[in-house]
Order: sequence, then structure tokens, then C-alpha cells
Amino acid sequence: MMKLVHIALENEMDLTLAYKKSIKAAELLGLSLSTQTAFATAVSEVCREIIDKTHEGVASIEAHSQGERFNLAAIITYRESAEMPSLHAGLQYAKKLVPIFNFSVLNSIGTIELKLAIPSSAHINRAKLVTIKNYFQNVEPTTPYEEVRQRNQELFQINEQSELARKQAEYLNEQKSEFLSVAGHELKTPLTILRAYAQMALRSNSNPETLSHLKKVDTQTLKLQTMILQLLDISRIEKGKADYNMETVDCNTYLDSMIDLIRQLIPSHDLLINLCNSIPIYIDKLRMEQVIMNIVGNAAKYSAAGSQIKLSTKLQPNGSLLFSVQDHGIGMSESEVQKIFEKFYRVEDVIKMYNGLGMGLYISSKILHDHGGKIWVESNLGKGSTFYFVITADHPAP
Ligand code: ADP
Repeated sequence: MMKLVHIALENEMDLTLAYKKSIKAAELLGLSLSTQTAFATAVSEVCREIIDKTHEGVASIEAHSQGERFNLAAIITYRESAEMPSLHAGLQYAKKLVPIFNFSVLNSIGTIELKLAIPSSAHINRAKLVTIKNYFQNVEPTTPYEEVRQRNQELFQINEQSELARKQAEYLNEQKSEFLSVAGHELKTPLTILRAYAQMALRSNSNPETLSHLKKVDTQTLKLQTMILQLLDISRIEKGKADYNMETVDCNTYLDSMIDLIRQLIPSHDLLINLCNSIPIYIDKLRMEQVIMNIVGNAAKYSAAGSQIKLSTKLQPNGSLLFSVQDHGIGMSESEVQKIFEKFYRVEDVIKMYNGLGMGLYISSKILHDHGGKIWVESNLGKGSTFYFVITADHPAP
């Protein structure tokens, strides 16, 4: 099936267009003058009824293949109305003009189909149909009304194409998430076993060289495990399946309990902590730890060993709590700052020098979003970055 041209049916002027375009399509398809007139008259009779009774319809002139042969068809759809009975006189007249006339109503949308066979002497093939379709797309309008209608049709097609592209992108994204989820699950089990054995060997060994090797195996498997958990997180978050175990906790008690872990994460940096007066916050403790560890870990990864990393909290006038993590590292340009919260985005120069997958900030921003908070960054290329995020204090209003 190939759509050659379509006409929106709203007023009398569209009736003239429907007639003109139907007759032109029939002419270009090599039909005889009498068949051209019969087809165009049938189409305009049906369109007249629709414009009179429903004020809303579309006529699509199409070529349908049937084995080696082609049919010329007009598919006219409209929103069903009580005033549009199937046996209306105009429709009866149209029915007599074409060999095939079908009428159906489904979910309040009426469809009238007019069809006639194109003789094989017209030598229709796909290339010829494309030429006819292009003719309708490129033909110069003869009246201002036609010009407006043509522009509308172009916009309609652009819209249709971008909708198609959006659907394809959505499908590919779903496939990718599915792959990440399956691959993540498959990798998780052998890695957990590998790590358990490395830890067992660490406990039962006293040779310093073997111990140092085993520690490296343990650290690297931990890194791999973290990456795999991030992969699984992404697919969970995208499927809307991230579950949160929300509770009210005292902010400073919570952060104090994490200090040792943070120091272990960034042993070569000078960690400074500056906390405001404590308030209750409503969070999923593990998920919030994931956010803080990711941002503090990044601060260390992207700054020189020995430099300072400052973790602060500040109570906001609206009662929310502002966290900041400041480093004096490589920083980022204005344009990069816009993109780092996107999935898999990594700054170009960073890719060559630092390991990572570009998932941490994407996941952190989703977790904060699900906490009713948000994250942003201020950065100076070559000087350092400060990541900020806010979360609402205590239990948010329902
Ligand atoms: P990863 O660090 O694994 O690449 P993230 O999602 O955590 O992934 O970060 C995305 C990108 O943001 C990083 O690749 C890096 O380019 C940039 N970035 C994040 N934190 C910092 C920071 N503190 N300083 C400079 N660049 C950063």
C-alpha cells in the first residue's frame, strides 16, 4: 500500500481539493477520463457528507497492490456522528460510481473505502507510485488555501516521521536496558563467588606477597561488583522498579556513621567535614549512601592525591537540607556541566585517563529525584568542582 496524498476535511474548500486531487491521482495512474471523473465524483460525494455532517475527517488517496495488479483507493475516515447514517443518499450515489465500496465503524471512527482496479495496461510499479507521491508533495499550490493545506500536510508528515523515530529510539532503549539487566545478572553470580574465595584466601594466608596480590584481586572484584550493581540499577530505575526503604533519620548521626567508610574510600585525600545543626531527614539510607559515596568518590577520582575534599551541609530557609562536596581537581567546562547527569556521558578528555562508565551521576540524580530532591554542579575547568544536592527535611507532605 502506498499513500499518495491526503486531504483533511473541514470545509467546502477541502471538497474542491478532494475532487482535484482524486482526479489528478487517477489521471497520473493512467485511468480513462470517464473513470477519473467517476472516482473523483464518488470521493467528493462522500467528502461532502462528512463535511456537512461531522466537520472532521480525512481522505487518503492510496494505491493498493493486489498480486501483480494495483487498485486505486480512497480511504475516508471520520469521527462517527448520529447525523452520519450509513445509508445516506450521498453515500448511495457514490456507491454506484465505484466497483468496491466498503463502510465500517470501529471505536467511533467511521471508515469508507472506495476502490477500483487499475488496468495492467497502465504499467504501474513502485517506482511510478513514488513519482506520483513526489508529484503531490512538490506540486505548487494554486490558491492561498491550498498553500496553507499543503504546509499543514508537510508538518503532519514531519510529525509522523519524528513520532516514528521516537518509537524506534524507545524500542532500542528498551532492548538495551533488557540486555544490561540480563548481562548484569549473569555477571553478578560468578563475581560474588570470586570475591568470596579471594576473601577466604586473604584470611587463611600469611605470606605478605600473596596477601598483597589477593588484596588487589579483592579490590578489583569489588570495583567490578560496583559497576555491575550500577548496570542493574540503571535497568531497575528505567523500569520504575527501584524500591526505596524510606525512614526518618537524624542527619548528623547518619553522616557520622558513614565517616569511616568515606575515609576508606578516599584514603589519599584530605577530607574536611563541616556539618550544620542536625535535623531529621526522610531518606532511604542505603540509596543516600550510594549518592554520597559516588559524589565523594568522583571528587577524589578527578583531583590530585593530597588535595582537600570538603563535605558540608547547610540548612536552607525553606527547611530543606543542602549538601555540597567541593574538590580542587580537574573541573569541567560550561558545556560539559550540562551533560554529566546524562546516562553514560563522560567528559572526552576524562575517558582516556580515568576509569568509569558514566553511570554514577545518572543514577544519583534519579535517586535524588525519587527523594523529591535535585542535584547540580558548579565547576571551573582546571580549578575544581562543587556538587550540590538538596533533600527535603523529615517527612514530606503527602
Ligand atoms: P564516571 O565517573 O564513572 O565516569 P559519573 O556518572 O560519576 O561516571 O560521572 C560522569 C562524568 O562527570 C565523569 O566521567 C566526569 O567526566 C565528570 N565528573 C564527575 N565528577 C567530577 C568531578 N568531581 N570533577 C570533574 N569531573 C567530574
